Amino acid sequence: MSRRKIIAGNWKMNIKPSETAALVKGVAEATKGFANVEVVCCTPAIDVPAAVAAAAGTNVGIGAENCHWKESGAYTGEISTGMLLDAGAKYVIIGHSERRQYFGETDETVNLRARAAIAAGLTAIVCVGETLEEREAGKLVEVIERQMNVGLKDVTAADCEKLVIAYEPVWAIGTGKTATPDQAQEVHALIRATLAKLVGAETAEKVRIQYGGSMKPGNAAELLAKKDIDGGLIGGAALKAADFAGIVAAAAAE
Ligand code: PEP
Repeated sequence: MSRRKIIAGNWKMNIKPSETAALVKGVAEATKGFANVEVVCCTPAIDVPAAVAAAAGTNVGIGAENCHWKESGAYTGEISTGMLLDAGAKYVIIGHSERRQYFGETDETVNLRARAAIAAGLTAIVCVGETLEEREAGKLVEVIERQMNVGLKDVTAADCEKLVIAYEPVWAIGTGKTATPDQAQEVHALIRATLAKLVGAETAEKVRIQYGGSMKPGNAAELLAKKDIDGGLIGGAALKAADFAGIVAAAAAE
């Protein structure tokens, strides 16, 4: 089964609206030769309109970093899927470990957000991953299965077509530590097997699973060569067009 590689940047809380067009245009320019890769920049919500304008007519899709599950109402500080769509976003990251760690995100709220995003027609990039303590305590399988089973509860096989999973070992995010290709592949295979139990093997084979955690041009190729690694969710290296494009180039060569 050939799955189109997807490389998505997660800008986090780093780029201002006034800086957005330059980075998106830089990414578009540096990646325009790699049509076989889906290239995405997920930006702070306030940057989305500028990012969408800068990406118009290019190969770059724009996404956000979070969304709420309600369409509107008294939820001060939140952004709905309808607002993101109205601004031109096509993707949204759900359940990033920083949201889980600092903002009380749970598997249950991941599920609500993921289902709302899918229902709205956004491509949801749903993040799972274990902490170092969980890995060292031998709880890797338990944690990933729980995050998948609860986070994707009531997500149908058809819904899964609008879904990307990102495996992000928490201990590798922004730390410079990368999971080895074998460590990453092992968890990607577990994620696909868990998906197969949830929505069937045929659908599970179609779902793209990104690796995230200190991916950079120098280590992307060996990770992306693995059977179940279908792309990357990129933090630090997404903030420089040349670094991000280096990862896209590695994906294009697979
Ligand atoms: C991320 O935040 O999703 C991430 C993978 O960050 P970094 O690439 O900086 O480790």
